[in-house]
Amino acid sequence: GTIHLKDYQPPGYLVNRTELHFLLGEEDTIVTSKLHLLRNTEGSSSGELELDGQDLELVEIRLDGEILEADRYELREASLLLRDLPEQCLLSCVTRIQPQLNTSLEGLYRSQTMFCTQCEAEGFRKITYYLDRPDVMSVFTVTIDADASRYPVLLSNGNLEETTLLPSGDTRVVWHDPFPKPSYLFALVAGQLEHVEDSFVTCSGRDVTLRIYVEEKDIDKCGHAMDSLQRSMRWDEERFGREYDLDIFNVVAVDDFNMGAMENKSLNIFNTSCVLCDPDTTTDVGYQRVEAIVAHEYFHNWSGNRVTCRDWFQLSLKEGFTVFRDAEFSSDMGSRTVKRVEDVTLLRSAQFAEDAGPMAHPVRPESYIEINNFYTLTVYEKGAEVVRMIHTLLGPDAFRAGSDLYFERHDGQAVTCEDFVLAMEEASGKDLSQFRNWYSQAGTPRLAVSESWDEDAGAYTLSVAQSCPPTPGQAEKKPFVIPLGIGLLGDAGNLRLQLEGEEPDPELEDNTHTVLMVDQQQQDFVFTGLPEKPVPSLLRGFSAPVRLDFDYSREDLCRLMSGDDDGFVRWDSAQTLAVGVIAEVQQQLASGGEPVVDPLFLQASIQLLQDPSLDPAMLAEMLTLPSENYLAELAGEGAADVDAIHSARRAVQAAVGGHCAQALEQRYRELRVEEAYAASGAQIAARSLRATCLTYLAAAGERGLELAQEQFSAADNITERLSALRVLSHFGKRADWEQPMEQFYKDWGHETLAVNQWLALQATMPDDAAVARVRHLMEHPDFDIRNPNKVRSLVGTFAGQNPVNFHRADGTGYRLLRQIVAELNAINPQIASRLLAPLTKWRYYSGRADLMRAELEQLAALDGLSPDVFEVVSKSLK
Ligand code: ZN
Repeated sequence: GTIHLKDYQPPGYLVNRTELHFLLGEEDTIVTSKLHLLRNTEGSSSGELELDGQDLELVEIRLDGEILEADRYELREASLLLRDLPEQCLLSCVTRIQPQLNTSLEGLYRSQTMFCTQCEAEGFRKITYYLDRPDVMSVFTVTIDADASRYPVLLSNGNLEETTLLPSGDTRVVWHDPFPKPSYLFALVAGQLEHVEDSFVTCSGRDVTLRIYVEEKDIDKCGHAMDSLQRSMRWDEERFGREYDLDIFNVVAVDDFNMGAMENKSLNIFNTSCVLCDPDTTTDVGYQRVEAIVAHEYFHNWSGNRVTCRDWFQLSLKEGFTVFRDAEFSSDMGSRTVKRVEDVTLLRSAQFAEDAGPMAHPVRPESYIEINNFYTLTVYEKGAEVVRMIHTLLGPDAFRAGSDLYFERHDGQAVTCEDFVLAMEEASGKDLSQFRNWYSQAGTPRLAVSESWDEDAGAYTLSVAQSCPPTPGQAEKKPFVIPLGIGLLGDAGNLRLQLEGEEPDPELEDNTHTVLMVDQQQQDFVFTGLPEKPVPSLLRGFSAPVRLDFDYSREDLCRLMSGDDDGFVRWDSAQTLAVGVIAEVQQQLASGGEPVVDPLFLQASIQLLQDPSLDPAMLAEMLTLPSENYLAELAGEGAADVDAIHSARRAVQAAVGGHCAQALEQRYRELRVEEAYAASGAQIAARSLRATCLTYLAAAGERGLELAQEQFSAADNITERLSALRVLSHFGKRADWEQPMEQFYKDWGHETLAVNQWLALQATMPDDAAVARVRHLMEHPDFDIRNPNKVRSLVGTFAGQNPVNFHRADGTGYRLLRQIVAELNAINPQIASRLLAPLTKWRYYSGRADLMRAELEQLAALDGLSPDVFEVVSKSLK
């Protein structure tokens, strides 16, 4: 059924202490729990208690030591109901589970030869009966008995208190975590693992042992994660005043994992793909992702663990804030502008689509059927944008004060988004009442901006109108508070800003930048004392997650692109220019004409390529054309034509490649990295721009393919191997890519993470054989439907990043997806439901909507539909 935020009730009982005992076995695992229960004075004081439990076999249950007879409790579908409990008692349960059969990868399960757990959001109930909700925080003591020859490493949260050898021959370990925590932060790992060890001395002198546990073969791939962890720990002390609180911090890498990683208290568990790094298996982007995810999970120790969520509607409280924190960390470690551009690209191409689709929900959702469906771009990425806007509105100092107050006031508590906003208000003295609409209203607001110029008065007016389209359950929206960063560009550079009716700020010598507060449906902002009509630089730094319309001329976009102070606006202007040029070519092609790419655009591209002041990483971003997905998103409902978009984008690529061939090849050559591979900012930037140049050259003709062949053979790292192989397989003929594709597998087939990327690359190939190729690869010995990384690499990439083939008119792309979703529904519902997302966007694709709906309807009719898939399918068909 549907769960509503408005129905929240405090728990009837609290669990003061939780003692767990695990007897790990090959067939059966026996879990014994001792729950020290205390009636909650804030709850509805009755002696009734309903414990969550799923797929458990109840062996025995005792109350204060006495066996409970069957008439004292009731076993329900997914819970255990107890009646007439005293105010305080010890409840102990013995349950039997079979982790080796658990393919959902929630709760306790097996990955390769190890045992591991994933409890967020509601996996703990697959381990034992419990109050599996985040507002029940308890001190855990965990005892594990296991055969040490198979499982020499036995880990749980907190500190290792004892290790003993049992008469049975098993080893027993006892772990104790002094910090009260909700069940979703519980973790257990058992296996044959090696580790690397290092340390960190905190600001107050605590010496913390840091360990990363991996399979023996991966022991040399831990350096980057360890280094990232140490830098995260230092950064969180300096930037947020957050110090680590235990003497040990463990990270474990597992191959079968539904998500990226999990912040279990002092025992973070990571998908191998988000922690292991090696030049032959990890791309530059991968290195950066590992740094960001290691930081993200570490930062959760405060934003998530010390202060956690009251209920799952508050998920963005920890996720939005932590994504904001990790983005700030990455910005400080590398290029702030490039990081911003990457984040905005993701938001616009994917989160905006989510906001416009059938699963649209506010940052703080009001209802859900399956909470796992709400670990979304909206909760994470848009949630981080909301925190970023608070940072913008308050300024860095007041924001930090608000953050300090929040952590101090709520340490050890399970709280709400409202508590976060209240702390920010109190520390800053700012009123955020209207700002709260960002938490409660779904949909992407649109800002329509227009200008007028009064030459005689030297006055320039920006008229801003905001609106927000209806979303499921929310027809009308109240106005948002939208911080709009702006500048005004004159002939000789940025102009001084003087808003009508405002005192000039004597502190600001060079006030060329300001943030306008857009908080009404319609507002005018008048700038006075201007010597000339300016070009407005709008939404600087992407100051709010909105769509912005302003009718720029191409000349003005070129000026912003080359001359604005704000890096984001420079990039964004290049994107807007490209969008217009591609749309124009799309029209020309549609009317049967020869495509003519605006010479202004070609000229601008050359200028960018020859601008020595531009950071190569930034240049690569500026030269990269908007993705096919983003172009489809921009086309809007009923108007996305994937084939036309693909052809038009290709034609523009070819024109730029041809026109700029010399400049492209020159940059390609001079940026060649001579030193051994390092994931340094400079090397990453160089490789990224080289890949961009190579793409254009290959789009234009043979030369690019030749260079790609050379690059593939000469490369000493997977980044350059894959970028060459991508170019060959996207622009070349079979004869160009077949041999290197095979070679790659011959050389790196023994490295799982490299194979995943090899699968993903083939899934993106735009040629006609793509669907057959994906089906063929699903039969490959390395493919495994039970491994989420394999499924995501091959099928997820195909459906998400191969628009022309996923949306084939013959429907074979859709059918492929539906079939595997149907199969996964029974194996791993979380992955099934996530994989399904591209089908839910059927409203965008006018010519294909019926085909897409038909597949959704087939899924809806499936026997044994999981709540995960049911929720997405039924909401999509509404
Ligand atoms: Zn997180």
